[in-house]
Amino acid sequence: MRDKGIARRIAMERVSILVKLASKAMRSEDYARAKRYANLTGALISHYKLRKETHGAVCKSCGAPMEPGLTCDVRIASTRRQVLYRCRLCARDNMLHY
Ligand SMILES: [Zn+2]
Repeated sequence: MRDKGIARRIAMERVSILVKLASKAMRSEDYARAKRYANLTGALISHYKLRKETHGAVCKSCGAPMEPGLTCDVRIASTRRQVLYRCRLCARDNMLHY
């Protein structure tokens, strides 16, 4: 019999490691590696149905991890009740309603 609790815990641990590695890769401007880490993180999260808070946001267009001030700019469009995250790599606006 498989214990899903242990598998999910290991997956959570890997997600946190991958998020740190992605952040480190972004800071050293290795964007291809950062996107790969973000991709693996997304695969783990969807496979093990982990909570979304365990990883940072990812650009929907290019898959780069979104770090405010480093890879994205954050604006608040208060009339539309949205937070806009503009990716600095592909210039796409990712919106979040509040
Ligand atoms: Zn992007």
